Amino acid sequence: MSELHFDVVGAEGPRRYFEALSRRQLAHAYAFTGPHGVGKKTFGRRLAQSLLCLAPKEGVVGYDGVCSSCALFRGESVHHPDFLEHDGVLKIGDRDVAAGFGEGDQLSARDVVRQLSMQSYSGGMRVLLLGDIDFATQHAANALLKFLEEPPQGVAMIMTTATPGRLLATIRSRVIEVRFPRFSTAQVHEILTRLHYGDKDAELGASLSGGSVTRALAALETEEESLRASVVRWFFESVAGKSPQDSWATRETLDEGLETVKTLVRDWIVASGHDGVALVSIDHADRIRRLKPLRGPQAVALLAKLDEAQRLARTNVSAALIGELVRMAITSS
Ligand SMILES: [Zn+2]
Repeated sequence: MSELHFDVVGAEGPRRYFEALSRRQLAHAYAFTGPHGVGKKTFGRRLAQSLLCLAPKEGVVGYDGVCSSCALFRGESVHHPDFLEHDGVLKIGDRDVAAGFGEGDQLSARDVVRQLSMQSYSGGMRVLLLGDIDFATQHAANALLKFLEEPPQGVAMIMTTATPGRLLATIRSRVIEVRFPRFSTAQVHEILTRLHYGDKDAELGASLSGGSVTRALAALETEEESLRASVVRWFFESVAGKSPQDSWATRETLDEGLETVKTLVRDWIVASGHDGVALVSIDHADRIRRLKPLRGPQAVALLAKLDEAQRLARTNVSAALIGELVRMAITSS
């Protein structure tokens, strides 16, 4: 028997629950409940992969990661004919859908029910993951209720919601609720690292997360946005020869800030030489085009000073001093 995996962070309770189940005990519908960003959908996807994996196993949890079914679960979007994932509001509609699972873009509740009545492509189960489930109308909810009242064989439906109280009581009473707790700070850190955030960002994001990866990502984005905004403000003030009120440069922000400055300077040089060329900093293109031209040896010298600043950023030289050197270089260009 090949080695089986179940690669989720945290969710110890749900994991224990499913690990104790035999195939026969698997219900036809589950509601994964808990706050946003605590791994409900990821768990649902891993469970779906487990249920569809061709490797023989005792229970329902675990996949080998190498069979032809698992191969379809690699990457961000899954294209498995027996796995259907849909996010958000289910409407009701009569649109004809393609025969296979995996055409989930504009799914309606009626499509879902129709899909559920179809045969499995591979002769195994069919798994449906409805993320952040919400129903546009009572009518849409009723369409799904019919499925729950007379579930077809070999179908597992997983709904996720952060607001289980908004599910119709008639639906809620027919599904098994599995609660997902918030992540620990260390778990959010681990997930952010897996998402290729550097150690500093992972730490910052985890500390602001309140146990939710969604919140951590939003916090990091805001942090990044506000850094970029202050670098841009500082840049235009420096070019104008004003002493900027605040410096953005700290040990934590130096690398990213210098990258932003470099992009702006490159755009400045490009805009000085060529009229029709698109700039990288689209939001500030007009302002950059209005700057006095930066060409020739002066342009080369400024770029060299930015390279030098990036080199200094990897040494012990203080961030404030490096920021000041860059400001002077820009002002004198
Ligand atoms: Zn497999």
